[in-house]
Amino acid sequence: MSIYIIEEKCRGCRDCMKACPFEAIKMTEGKAKINYDKCTQCGVCELACKFEAILAEKE
Ligand code: SF4
Ligand code: SF4
Repeated sequence: MSIYIIEEKCRGCRDCMKACPFEAIKMTEGKAKINYDKCTQCGVCELACKFEAILAEKE
């Protein structure tokens, strides 16, 4: 699985950042950014984003 943030859709609400159990999301210039060194691809942030700005692609 690969997790992506679609920057154009991100409204900077921080819900994904608060939901991430691994502190892998930080806000940069009002947009969420995933730190892939910390991300475990757990998928929690995708469920947390109500603007559908996070995409989980199953490979
Ligand atoms: S939950 Fe979605 S809209 Fe909110 S900051 Fe995260 S990616 Fe952006
Ligand atoms: S997939 Fe899981 S670990 Fe990765 S950024 Fe989202 S909530 Fe955090």
